[in-house]
Amino acid sequence: MQGGWTNVQGAEMAVRAGNGAADGGAGSMKRPDRQPPPCLVEDLHVCPECGCGLVHPVDWAAVDAVHWRVELRCPECEHRSVGLYEQAVVDRFDQILDAGTDSLYADLRRLERTNMEAELKRFSTLLAADLVLPEDF
Ligand SMILES: [Zn+2]
Repeated sequence: MQGGWTNVQGAEMAVRAGNGAADGGAGSMKRPDRQPPPCLVEDLHVCPECGCGLVHPVDWAAVDAVHWRVELRCPECEHRSVGLYEQAVVDRFDQILDAGTDSLYADLRRLERTNMEAELKRFSTLLAADLVLPEDF
């Protein structure tokens, strides 16, 4: 295996080998029905088609102790792929996904604060102009 990953054909071979040895819940894995990525990608979050950095996992399953079968989707161009990836590549992908989640939460908190400040400013302006009356509540 080169660069920590292989293509769908490799995943199918690994799944077949795993089914003969130990089940371990592998029965839920589906056969990949899509073509392998056209080019090698080490960072799973980068789309091989459009270069978007927002690729996310759609489905995943452990194939053995150090390999994962992961189905990926790009939200920009809808490119989908399935591959067999080594633990280190999946761990790095997981860290990138966690950082993305943290970034989204930080953006959400900033947006909530900005909206609250704008609302308070409007309310304060209305109070100062004596435009808020008891009947408004
Ligand atoms: Zn894409």
